[in-house]
Amino acid sequence: MLATVIHAARDIRVEEVPDPVLSTGGDAVVRVVAACVCGSDLWPYRGITPTHAPHRIGHEFVGVVEAIGDDVQRIAVGDFVIAPFYVCDNTCINCRNGVSTSCLHGGWWGSDDRLGAFADGGQGERVRVPLADGTLVSVPAPVSDAQVPGLLSLSDVMGTGHHAAVSAGVQAGESVAVVGDGAVGLCAIIAARRFGATTIIAMSRHPERQQLARLFGATHIVAERGDVGITAVQEITFGIGADRVLECVGTKESMDQAIRSTRPGGMVGYVGAPNGGPELPVRPLFNRNVGVNGGIAPVRGYIEELLPDVLAGVIEPGRVFDLELPLAQAAEAYAAMDDRRAVKVLLRP
Ligand SMILES: [Zn+2]
Repeated sequence: MLATVIHAARDIRVEEVPDPVLSTGGDAVVRVVAACVCGSDLWPYRGITPTHAPHRIGHEFVGVVEAIGDDVQRIAVGDFVIAPFYVCDNTCINCRNGVSTSCLHGGWWGSDDRLGAFADGGQGERVRVPLADGTLVSVPAPVSDAQVPGLLSLSDVMGTGHHAAVSAGVQAGESVAVVGDGAVGLCAIIAARRFGATTIIAMSRHPERQQLARLFGATHIVAERGDVGITAVQEITFGIGADRVLECVGTKESMDQAIRSTRPGGMVGYVGAPNGGPELPVRPLFNRNVGVNGGIAPVRGYIEELLPDVLAGVIEPGRVFDLELPLAQAAEAYAAMDDRRAVKVLLRP
């Protein structure tokens, strides 16, 4: 089969790789209907994370189950399934505590599972899925083609934006500022509105993304950064800062922006994977009673909660995909996101 392999920075190839096979009774093999490129895939692409040897890449996909092991009970051949961006059993103590990203038996796409069998990357024609009962969520049939982007967003970005809002404790009637206008930041706006926030400030400098932010529920746009941006947020929020700030980038600058845009007693929900060394300034947090909560989003646990709203069209996170390419053009997908010509690219095998 064909799958995406990263060989080095800016060297993405679609190559022939071994077909996945069932390895344990708990496995499934999924034929990928759609996959996508994540902002975090750009780190190895840009060379920020070194690539020492060619390896498979991609961790967001939806597809149809082609085969299951003898022990699989919740998933059937023919099911349309959503895969979260990691493998989990959904039964261990960490999964039950709502942190399935810390699953005691979990793992990551594009690498060996804990028993030593390979779990394929998501950007390919097929994927061997370990712990299929825990990892995969079936979508009630029929699934239309138009629903695919929204379902794919539940693999990562919509669940991650939701986690930012959950972590910050967003409640109805509150003010929320969102730092970051990538796919996760845009989904965080959807999540903030879904929780009933009435003032939603999108911090974005890009006209097309500002437009999407408005469509998703942003009531205000702040294009400025740094002190000027903080002053702009304060002017919208009674001069004190936002009740909740959702940090969806992961850099030192974005974390600083988030913390300083939060009102005394408010909370930052952070989901931007730390990149460039953000550190918490404890004394300013202490002085202003600002809390910081969040981390890698345990999206598996959010899929069932968000799925009905996606299927009903109540929320439309699939709109973050503004470019669709065949899998064969994966290299162009990376380039388009790297150049910010696309917010997020959907790949069709
Ligand atoms: Zn677990």
